Amino acid sequence: MSLIVEKFGGTSVGSIERINAVADHLKAKCDSGESLVVVVSAMSGETNRLLGLAKDLSAAPVTREMDVLLSTGEQVTIALLSIALQERGVNARSFTGGQVGILTDKVHGKARIQQIDDSKIRVEIDAGNIVIVAGFQGIDENGNITTLGRGGSDTSAVALAAALKADECRIYTDVNGIYTTDPRIEPEARRLDRITFEEMLELASSGAKVLQSRSVEFAGKYKIPLRVLSSFEPDAGTLISYETGEDMEQPLVSGIAYQKDEAKLTIRGIPDQPGVAHRVLGPISAANINVDIIIQNVGADGETDITFTVHRDDFESCKTLLENTAKALGATEVLGDSSIAKIAVVGVGMRSHSGVADTMFKALADEGINIQMISTSEIKIAVVIEDRYLELAVRGLHKAFGLAEA
Ligand code: ADP
Ligand code: ASP
Ligand code: MG
Repeated sequence: MSLIVEKFGGTSVGSIERINAVADHLKAKCDSGESLVVVVSAMSGETNRLLGLAKDLSAAPVTREMDVLLSTGEQVTIALLSIALQERGVNARSFTGGQVGILTDKVHGKARIQQIDDSKIRVEIDAGNIVIVAGFQGIDENGNITTLGRGGSDTSAVALAAALKADECRIYTDVNGIYTTDPRIEPEARRLDRITFEEMLELASSGAKVLQSRSVEFAGKYKIPLRVLSSFEPDAGTLISYETGEDMEQPLVSGIAYQKDEAKLTIRGIPDQPGVAHRVLGPISAANINVDIIIQNVGADGETDITFTVHRDDFESCKTLLENTAKALGATEVLGDSSIAKIAVVGVGMRSHSGVADTMFKALADEGINIQMISTSEIKIAVVIEDRYLELAVRGLHKAFGLAEA
């Protein structure tokens, strides 16, 4: 009997009607003989609503309490889905992340899963139950509730699939697979039947929110067969493939991802000496702030400037940390810009072809868009631009790389 983990995102469980539709779907799967572990998100909009309530009380709510609050969204949907299944005569039981032994580190709001004790779920499966687990949450070693970062239910699902050695993990969402770019921005975007794991990881870590990037990391580490498909019009969706063989078509560029909520910080006029980058970035990493693109420039006067990007949510706290470092190092100034966006083109074919960067830069120039920062990996080129040009840039690049054509 195959064991499948299915995850349903916020829109897929966003109303009683949608929960009924998911329950019908799960009953049919159960009747066809699949053993099922189901992970659900909060109803669409609910996590934002809860965030708003806390922000009405405090500009910087305590992160531990935020996790207690935000995790309630998923607790509602697990119970409702379980009730809907029981109404159909299907044995189902709902559990929070902590109840099924999802152990994380202590970083509230961005916790990482460290271990999953699969014994509890196995007992339930063996008893013939559909196990419904709240996504996005776990507990730390002291029993505090933690959350895994926005979009974290994807990671709950893939991590459970890994722990249970599931035959497949299916991520049901509001689009019918992975597209060449976000179809909400480019209506000409094309659905891909398959995408390599490496490309999916680059797209997700460059902002394609259809999968949280940590979920793709987990999938790659444990080689979990992973599929993204629609809960509204189910078909085969997109398969994340681990094959790199010649039989696979290797387009130059497979997709374009973007990240809107970015910010840029610069510290100017610091001494050009060993250890300076560590002194600038060390306190930021100690505060669990993720730094993305980093550029260091040594001027003719022998002094150094360092510029880097962070998520916009971390901008103010990062600026304060940087201002403290600037004082300690005698830096000239700290500059900040929270109206930037990042855009990345991704494709395994880049390994063996040159000219992708040039096509990208020309397409942006043709739209009159200035490039502020550039970063590359073997299969990705990312640039930072002014955020108001983001949609124009996505559409221009989609066209320049001919992504609408199969
Ligand atoms: P869920 O609530 O199901 O987790 P999300 O909103 O987190 O759904 O992710 C699905 C959304 O991801 C889509 O509606 C789409 O706008 C966006 N998206 C961004 N990039 C892509 C892409 N390359 N392919 C498909 N969807 C994408
Ligand atoms: N409900 C959480 C969020 O909105 C987690 C998720 O949907 O994956 O980010
Ligand atoms: Mg999501």
